[in-house]
Amino acid sequence: MARADTLARARTLDRPALAYVVRFPTADGVRDMDLTWAELARDTDWATARLREHGLAAGQRALLTASGFEGFWGHAVIGALRALKVTYGIAEAMGWDHRRTAVFHRELTPHTVIGLSAETLEGLAGSADIGEMFRPTPLVLARPAAVPLLRGVGVSACVISAVGPALALECPERSGAHVNAAEWRLGEWDGQLSVAAGEGRTSLLPETPLGLAGRVVTGRCACGSEDPRVLLAEANQSS
Ligand SMILES: [Zn+2]
Repeated sequence: MARADTLARARTLDRPALAYVVRFPTADGVRDMDLTWAELARDTDWATARLREHGLAAGQRALLTASGFEGFWGHAVIGALRALKVTYGIAEAMGWDHRRTAVFHRELTPHTVIGLSAETLEGLAGSADIGEMFRPTPLVLARPAAVPLLRGVGVSACVISAVGPALALECPERSGAHVNAAEWRLGEWDGQLSVAAGEGRTSLLPETPLGLAGRVVTGRCACGSEDPRVLLAEANQSS
């Protein structure tokens, strides 16, 4: 009873608006940006819509590989999986935890693997055939450096990537990773990407070069979305 009372009282307390401080690399060093709970809720809604387009549905299983410091987008993806009633397991995306990815992949036979990294693939390659492992997985959303490795073994991966403080997620058209235009402005100069916060963002971010090679594609995607797409150079290198 004491516990129920404590929880009831806790619910009446003011909740700070700040959910995360997002730290991301830019062309000139590292930058911090606040992320509020309200922004996180909007980011979660956007990620939910993107994953629904990929056919994720109730009763399926997912494996998310992400690191704790990536919570600013990892939390949105977890929220999306919960909203879609997709059961998920989480492994660390750093190479040393590749065995956890192998175990979850074997035990869950997930419909999707989200956030697969090149480091995880390199770890797995020592004891498994990554083509055999991931070709039967209907949806693989991989980080840019992992995409050529997967495509090289016949896994038609889609891109998921942080673009500064924003999340980029490729749709089933596989023609670039969408970024939520309602929250972010993307720019491109001399083959390098930049990002600025949209007007609705609490934390101001003027146009900031990211030191990230890529292109921005605007205009309506074949999937129907008007959200711009980034073509990240790393994801399009041949392996
Ligand atoms: Zn699209």
